Parts: sequence; structure tokens; C-alpha cells
Amino acid sequence: MELKNYFQRAIKEHFALGAINFCNMESLQAIVEACKETNSPMIVSVSESAMKYMGEYVTYLFKAGKKIFPHIFLHLDHGKSFEICKIAVEMGFDSVMIDGSSLPFEENVLITQKVCEFAHRKNVLVEGELGQIKGIEDDVRSENQHYTNPIKAKEFVEKTKVDSLAVAIGTSHGAYKYSGEKSLRFDILSEIEAELPSFPLVLHGASTVDQSLIDLINKYGGNLQTANGIPKNLLEKAVKEHNIVKINTDTDIRIAMTGKVRQVLYENSKEFDPRKYLGSGREQIKNVVIDKINNIFFSSNKI
Ligand SMILES: [Zn+2]
Repeated sequence: MELKNYFQRAIKEHFALGAINFCNMESLQAIVEACKETNSPMIVSVSESAMKYMGEYVTYLFKAGKKIFPHIFLHLDHGKSFEICKIAVEMGFDSVMIDGSSLPFEENVLITQKVCEFAHRKNVLVEGELGQIKGIEDDVRSENQHYTNPIKAKEFVEKTKVDSLAVAIGTSHGAYKYSGEKSLRFDILSEIEAELPSFPLVLHGASTVDQSLIDLINKYGGNLQTANGIPKNLLEKAVKEHNIVKINTDTDIRIAMTGKVRQVLYENSKEFDPRKYLGSGREQIKNVVIDKINNIFFSSNKI
């Protein structure tokens, strides 16, 4: 099934596609194995900085993963320019995000239109973003939270012809998501859905930052004392009761691997075989992805 069809099916059947970032072979292997075990479709994302880190390996690693489990899709996360989106389209990505959310509305419309015109000719989907999602992750940085304006969202989708839209309703990037009450603006989400019926919506900054994973990091020499994420029940509501069809996760994959690598190296001070600690990290990522498939994305057996 094509990614576009998955989005429509996800709206009808109230599940979501996970969009999980990878930055090396082990993280992609873990995601693919988790999907294979649960028969879950999945989007695997790379940020611009992950593209720089992996270079040409991105598409070859992805091809290897797709050979093992065909129901995965390659996505560019937070493309900041037309040029990077063009490169991703030409590299054979299934979908690209053009993030013009920090630009004035009209400029965001123009750059997103331009990416859509180019990508759609090659049958590549485009995700846009309206509103600003707080936090820091890779090169994406925003001090402010600006919720998505529902009326503007409709205008944006009509003018640009994007295939999906990332909305700002209170999630944030990174490992420190909340300092106060943990909530999401479901009222705004409902208003957006009233303006854009059955339109695929995307949540960024949606890692749960599980305390057990943070504890593991801190126990073995790390210092992420106040890290916290989006509670699972809020994400479940976004998927089960709303049109959120893509949920982005990067931080949880990073903390899963970091905690396990720290533990293995700490407990085995003579170990110097990278397969031992990266292999354990890979196993931990796989467990985290399976948990998300079952409890947040509800995407098992949806291939
Ligand atoms: Zn994001």
C-alpha cells in the first residue's frame, strides 16, 4: 500500500504511523525488526543533520531495511529549504517535510507550494507545518510556542496542496517538554479538524521520555535529571479520537540507546567490542518501538 493510502486508512481506523528517526544502522535495524514482529507499517525519518551524518548510506541502509520488511517509508524530517527537499526527492525518499513554520505565513505558503510542485511530479508526498513547536532538536530550534490557527490551517492546505500538516497543539521537541502541567490543546485540534475534515495531521515532539529509560542513563553516569515527555494517554487520545496519523519520535530512540550503552560499558569495564554495547542498545530501541506500536500508534497488523 502507498503511504498516501495509509494516511486515509489511519484516519478511518484510528491508528497512526510512527515516524521514527534513525541515524545509524543499529537504530534502523531495531525499527525494522520491531515492525516485522508486529506487522506494522512505519515511516523512518532522517533530519537534515542525520542526512549529513550518514551521507549516501541513508538510502542504501533504507533499501536494505525495505528488502527485509517492505512496509516502511523514507521521510525527510524538517527540511528547511527547497534545495534539501529537492535532494531528498531525487535520492528517492517517499516523503519530505518542508518546515517553513518560522517564516511569515505568506512566505511559508510560497516555499511549501514550491516543494509540493516539485515533489508531486515525482509522486513524493509533502508535509508542511503551521504554528511553532517549542524546543530544540538537531538544527530545529524555537523558543516560542505558537499554536496552529485553524482558519489559517485551511487556507494553508488549500493554497499549498500539502499532503499532511504538522500542527502545534502543545507538544515540544527534545527531552525537556514540560515545566508545568502536562496537557495538549485538544480544543484547537478539534477546530483544525472542523476546518479540514479527514485531512492527515501530524504531531511532532511526541516522545514520551519514559522515566525508566531516563533512570538508566542517570544511574550509569548520565545527568538528565528533569527530562520529561508527553504522557501516553494524551497521545492515545490524539490517535483514537482525532485525525493524527503520523507521530514523530526521535528523543525516545536516543535515550533508549544511550542508557543501554552506558549500562553495558559500566558493568563490563573490559568490554571493547562495539557489537556488544551497540547490540544491546539496538535491542533496547526495538523494545521501545514495539511498545509504541502497541500502545501509541496502534498500528500492528495494519500492513
Ligand atoms: Zn519535529
